[in-house]
Amino acid sequence: MEIIPSYSLLEHNTFRVEAKAQWWIAYRDIEDLKKLAKDEYFETLSFINLGLGANTLFLGDYKGAVLHSQITSIEEVGVIDSSMSSDSTPSHLIRVGSGVVWDEFVAETIARGFYGLENLSGIPASVGAAIVQNIGAYGSEVGHYVEEIEAFDLGTGKVLRLCAEEAQFGYRSSLFKTPQYDKVVITHVTFRLSTKPQPNLTYRALAEAFEGVVAPTPLEVRHKVLTIRGSKLPKVEEYPNAGSFFKNPLVSQEKFESIQKEFSSVPHWLSPNGDPNVKLSAAWLIDQAGYKGKRIGSVGCYPLQPLVIVNYGTPLGKEILFFSEKVKHAVRERFGIELEPEVRMVGTLHDNGEK
Ligand SMILES: Cc1cc2nc3c(=O)[nH]c(=O)nc-3n(C[C@H](O)[C@H](O)[C@H](O)COP(=O)(O)OP(=O)(O)OC[C@H]3O[C@@H](n4cnc5c(N)ncnc54)[C@H](O)[C@@H]3O)c2cc1C
Repeated sequence: MEIIPSYSLLEHNTFRVEAKAQWWIAYRDIEDLKKLAKDEYFETLSFINLGLGANTLFLGDYKGAVLHSQITSIEEVGVIDSSMSSDSTPSHLIRVGSGVVWDEFVAETIARGFYGLENLSGIPASVGAAIVQNIGAYGSEVGHYVEEIEAFDLGTGKVLRLCAEEAQFGYRSSLFKTPQYDKVVITHVTFRLSTKPQPNLTYRALAEAFEGVVAPTPLEVRHKVLTIRGSKLPKVEEYPNAGSFFKNPLVSQEKFESIQKEFSSVPHWLSPNGDPNVKLSAAWLIDQAGYKGKRIGSVGCYPLQPLVIVNYGTPLGKEILFFSEKVKHAVRERFGIELEPEVRMVGTLHDNGEK
């Protein structure tokens, strides 16, 4: 276990803002976590989990411990009989450490001939956070491929094992985002993957890209997804950002119809499971509110994708927060809709960091 006081988080957040952790703790296995759970000083500290920091905005220094997984094993742990699956193909169970970089894991599964995750290529994440956020893209969500999650509760000192259903995956959410789970650390995830390629081309941009191709291979799908992502999203190294800053809002049918009267082509999705609410595109709302490509000082909305807020050079997380508040305000004024951040904010503006 690596424990470092007063540790710079500059390289551990994709907004590249400056912040320090009172303690940086990188753990290598569950034994490290068991030691922490018994440590009297650690008990007095608040702590957060941090993977790549691709969904985190530090508003100031963090007074407490920042826990970072360095569990990086990848192993095949079993096969589920073909008679148990709908398409008579056996599923392979791949157990991976929470500290593995998500896209490296996706590449590795495809190279080993285990398929399913290709549409989720290129998402900057650690495996642990991929579960917490239920990352999704191009018509696919990670929760769909999960067999089991192993975690450690630093509050109770207990090991937890949850199946996908228990994890309550939803739109960019899971059980791990609820307050009862804020002392829980994910250590391993077991995925159920198939050896039979089943390309998922439900997402329009992907279907169009493969028009005329009968059965693209998982590797071809991965490359296409990476190409499309590269053409739409800013590169973190050039334009520090955390992907979508806000969630797509759910609005009532009545609200949707009032907007549709003014904009007949307002992008929207009907909610599954008979939910009467309608999901709107946050990017479209921000664009209509006049913020596409708009920049104030060192922060702005990316011109090609206004849902992405870019840090053009400030070392201060709070400047990014202030800009995001302006975007929220503009959308509220224009449409009466409250945007909810997808990005996690850590620290407060007033106490120099403590959560
Ligand atoms: C350029 C760019 C593009 C993106 N595109 C997408 C996209 O297409 N789809 C999408 O869904 N997201 C996307 N994102 C958002 C981001 O990739 C995801 O939110 C991802 O899950 C962040 O992973 P992370 O390791 O960086 O998380 P962090 O920011 O480090 O943490 C995120 C959350 O996970 C928790 N966490 C981290 N590790 C653990 C652990 N071991 N145990 C328990 N909790 C843990 C943290 O407490 C926090 O709540 C994008 C981000 C960027 C920068």
